[in-house]
Amino acid sequence: MGQVSINENVMDLTDEGPRLKGMHCKNCGNHVFPMQKGCPKCTSDDVEEVQLGTRGTLWAWTIQGFPPKAPPYLGETDPEKFKPYGVGYIELPGQLKVESRLTVSDPTALKNGMEMEIVGEIIGQDEDGNDLVTFAFAPVA
Ligand SMILES: [Zn+2]
Repeated sequence: MGQVSINENVMDLTDEGPRLKGMHCKNCGNHVFPMQKGCPKCTSDDVEEVQLGTRGTLWAWTIQGFPPKAPPYLGETDPEKFKPYGVGYIELPGQLKVESRLTVSDPTALKNGMEMEIVGEIIGQDEDGNDLVTFAFAPVA
């Protein structure tokens, strides 16, 4: 039993934690997350997969106070047991803003512009008993 990425098209799980897979357009320099086969900005298909940065700054955030409808969501969906969590956009320098779950759900602990880094969060288990790991961003201590 070990740990596996919740979605290998979106992130790799390394010994150092999750690494997001993005797209870099060689034609216009655009970055997109997650990886896709063509650039939505200039329609070029001259794109490559790149590993996105692991640190960035908090650009905007909110506290998710009820279970979201949008898939893929594998966490607790029972409103009685649901625990609020932070959601935000992290600006990765020179790349893009990525929407992510945050490890912090206390609004007084979050501030736009604060430095954040990627961490793994276990959100369930697969049939083989492996931990399913997704990514979240945590304030840099
Ligand atoms: Zn492009």
